[in-house]
Amino acid sequence: MSKVRIYNLARDLGVDNGKMLEILDGLGVSYKSVSSTIEDDTVDLIKQILEEEAAGGPAQAPTSTPAAEPVQASAPQAQAETQAQAASQSAPTATVERMPEPAPTASPARELPHRAPVVTIMGHVDHGKTSLLDYIRKTKVAAKEAGGITQHVGAFEARTSKGRVVFIDTPGHEAFTTIRARGANVADIAIIVIAADDSLMPQTREAIAHAQAAKVPMIVAINKIDLPQADPERVKTDLTSLNLVPEEYGGDLIVVPVSARTGEGVEDLLEYISLTAELEDLRADPGGEFRGVVIESRVDRQAGVLATVMVQEGTLHVGDFLVVGEGYGKIKALTDTNGGRIKDAGPSTPVQVLGFSENPSSGETVRSAKNEHQAREVVAGRVGDRRDAEEARGRRRLSLEEMMGP
Ligand code: GDP
Ligand code: MG
Repeated sequence: MSKVRIYNLARDLGVDNGKMLEILDGLGVSYKSVSSTIEDDTVDLIKQILEEEAAGGPAQAPTSTPAAEPVQASAPQAQAETQAQAASQSAPTATVERMPEPAPTASPARELPHRAPVVTIMGHVDHGKTSLLDYIRKTKVAAKEAGGITQHVGAFEARTSKGRVVFIDTPGHEAFTTIRARGANVADIAIIVIAADDSLMPQTREAIAHAQAAKVPMIVAINKIDLPQADPERVKTDLTSLNLVPEEYGGDLIVVPVSARTGEGVEDLLEYISLTAELEDLRADPGGEFRGVVIESRVDRQAGVLATVMVQEGTLHVGDFLVVGEGYGKIKALTDTNGGRIKDAGPSTPVQVLGFSENPSSGETVRSAKNEHQAREVVAGRVGDRRDAEEARGRRRLSLEEMMGP
């Protein structure tokens, strides 16, 4: 009996992975991820269901198909977890009692458009983070854009066959931890780079710990596989000792061998990023209230403050008022990561903002205000809150001194 990976089947049948998982859930078939394999007879069932749906007939309840029963019977409670994981993807009707017509009553969150994944690359020094980012930038940023002035703005966007992928361009843990320390979580997926000739090193473990603490899904890229002394198997074994079990060893950790030098495996890595993003079901409201995070910022002698902001919700427009920390500003210009002037920027777009009066720090949250008056009010409120807190602390210290005094 042959087996097929879920995402390959989805691609061959021309449906998205979410739909495929929905069908599998309906059939009570368990899986770990979209790269899990399924059996031939399940494939037949899926084709049948899709054909029936395409024929316009009521989407058939799998139980009414005799062939479905063996699969149904083997649907144990143990699947609750995988199903829960996929629950955000599947409409509540995707159960055995499939309704003839899935009612459009899903929660509003499900109606929001998908957004591109934001990826951070972490790992031990010299394992190839910068080289990997450079390779992706060189090969995946459209040539005409890459030809422009490449200035470091802390993020870039790659175009893949599955859509945009946004990379945070300040590798290392610092960017990640400073941003996280301010309570913001900017990355959706963490790539842990491990050199195949060096395996797990202290900063690798740190990077893994950071990703786990942030509850960000990890993909391991085993880099430098072009080297003769590369030993990717050792890396996988070492990962297993950290309780991170690669898929091919029966676990659910995606491990992709790559070479930032030759480019081998980079396409696969991008594919896995897209698959992980699809499973995470990343959505945001371009029409919602604006929320963003400062990725990095610098002061240009002529232009002034140039801050790279990651748009998380809503849309930024030239002319908007923004509040960051205890400062505010009006957007004079927006520049995309390729140096092009743009008028607005939606979710998962890193954008350079010109117009802040003060230089914000990485990880600071950015909000918008309706007008200058409101922006001032928000800032005044924040300054007031801070003073109150300082005063309260001062009073506490004073009363403590009184108590301890002679
Ligand atoms: P980082 O400290 O993690 O950013 O690592 P770098 O990207 O600076 O790479 C460290 C060194 O490893 C450099 O000399 C790179 O040329 C080299 N390097 C990076 N990736 C590869 C690779 O895939 N194969 C080989 N042979 N060398 C690599
Ligand atoms: Mg580097």
